[in-house]
Amino acid sequence: MSKVIITAAVSGSNPTRAMNPAVPYTPAEIADAVVESCEAGAAVAHIHVRDPETGAPSHRLDLFAEVVERVRARCNVVLNLTTSGLHLSGDDVTEQRLAPITLRPELASLDIGSVNFSTATFHNPPAFGEVAARRMWEQGVKPEIEVFDLGHIEQARDLIEKGFFAAPPYFQLCMGIRWGIPATPANLLAMYHSLPEGVPWSVLGVGKAQLPMITMGLLLGGHVRVGFEDNLYLRKGVPARSNAELVEMAVDLVRILHREVATPDEARDLLNLHS
Ligand code: MG
Repeated sequence: MSKVIITAAVSGSNPTRAMNPAVPYTPAEIADAVVESCEAGAAVAHIHVRDPETGAPSHRLDLFAEVVERVRARCNVVLNLTTSGLHLSGDDVTEQRLAPITLRPELASLDIGSVNFSTATFHNPPAFGEVAARRMWEQGVKPEIEVFDLGHIEQARDLIEKGFFAAPPYFQLCMGIRWGIPATPANLLAMYHSLPEGVPWSVLGVGKAQLPMITMGLLLGGHVRVGFEDNLYLRKGVPARSNAELVEMAVDLVRILHREVATPDEARDLLNLHS
């Protein structure tokens, strides 16, 4: 089995300081969380930005740019900027969503299929996947294909067959988002068996599903994602003190299961990010 890429998703767009006071809001706080997570063993950092005053979800390019600049000055982590823009609206929503890739991160999330998220609809029409994949290819940004159900993997496979993605395509299996695929062992196995043969993939589990899903992912040879975007607790009733504490938990788990943690440069090799 390959070394394990640990992704730290340090803020997301939904968690608030009312839920956990350590949730980072400002670019400086997000950059600190990324650097600490990298020092703890994360090879990739998945970035959302927030309104620095209120913590509300934001997709402002200047905030992404400040996070990128601050992180690049301090560590070698692979940056993965979100293009989800769940809260965005307007006629130019596709352009708004894709703006972060102009900052040329090495990775960017790419959402293939639509799904209900709790009380909202995550709207990803088929044309969005094609436009986003083409734009990322042009910018030299590798997509991290986020899938929330089995049908999304089928949609991704169709785009792979049509040549939209450079090899190897990289998948993030998103388990347990409310009204996405439930985070059960049987469902993770079904997602795993639906992937194209031999491609690199990572798994995340929401809330209390984080630990069981990443454990099972490690046993299946996958990579893993942790961090406040997905889960705010170290264990039941014990809020995590930082994103880095969740990364440390993942590092311990990787070692207990006799795998090794990939450095950022090893992650670049595994995902073919050098081209
Ligand atoms: Mg995200």
